[in-house]
Amino acid sequence: MEQSELLKNAWEESDKTQLIGIIREAQGEDLGKVFAPEQKKIWDSAFDTEQKKEKVLICSDERIQPAPGEFKMGVAGQLILAPLDVQTKFIHDWKGKIKFVRSHSGCGAAGLAYQKLSPEEKNQYQDGDNPADEYGKLFSADLASKLGADFEHIPFSRMRGSEDFHDARMIFWSADPEFDPSELDNDFLPPHFLANGLAYGLEPEYCKEELKILSGIGLGGHGFGELFTPDNPFYVISLGKNAKEINGLAKEALKEFGDRVKFKYIKR
Ligand SMILES: [Zn+2]
Repeated sequence: MEQSELLKNAWEESDKTQLIGIIREAQGEDLGKVFAPEQKKIWDSAFDTEQKKEKVLICSDERIQPAPGEFKMGVAGQLILAPLDVQTKFIHDWKGKIKFVRSHSGCGAAGLAYQKLSPEEKNQYQDGDNPADEYGKLFSADLASKLGADFEHIPFSRMRGSEDFHDARMIFWSADPEFDPSELDNDFLPPHFLANGLAYGLEPEYCKEELKILSGIGLGGHGFGELFTPDNPFYVISLGKNAKEINGLAKEALKEFGDRVKFKYIKR
């Protein structure tokens, strides 16, 4: 099957999910009251952290899921794009509290970070098949050791979706430390990025930059790209006690994408 056809199929598949239908029907930006009782029950299970005790730092990428019983801390490339002071503060705050740091194959964030390296620095990462993946792996292994966490690399065989494109329809931009929708039913939830660094003390300026990078991946040539239109936009869903405020920050961060992005929030 051609790439364009695979992309179209993935779009149609995601289009059938309940949440896309719910958001499409919703008036205004506040999604707080749009769920019918049955839907509300499903949605609320994303906040059930009782069963998800172990925190894992993994990529915001929609193809990367935590294992059952794990709670996803979703940060692009596990902080590979964050300034050093943001990384240092995170290590200070979370040392000894994270079970795993996992890198993954085909990481867009590691790719961007690799491009910014000098030629000399790039030379250090030529061992594997893919230098950017190699850089992502070594960066995450080092971060894991600083955090006192275990490290693992996730190959394509353990990722959902396609090696070749991103099928995220939305990004959850969350300041809610209880929210992890990874285990919600695929009939309910479309593929999505999860960026919840705001919930763990990452600086808003960095989080805005990260939101822009991830949304750019979804809206660009490695994502559904031009399938996103003003009528079928990419959604940013802001979550947390201050969901309305961070919804405002998201709008500031994503101005350049115009009306191909629409903003929603759910306060809790
Ligand atoms: Zn990634």
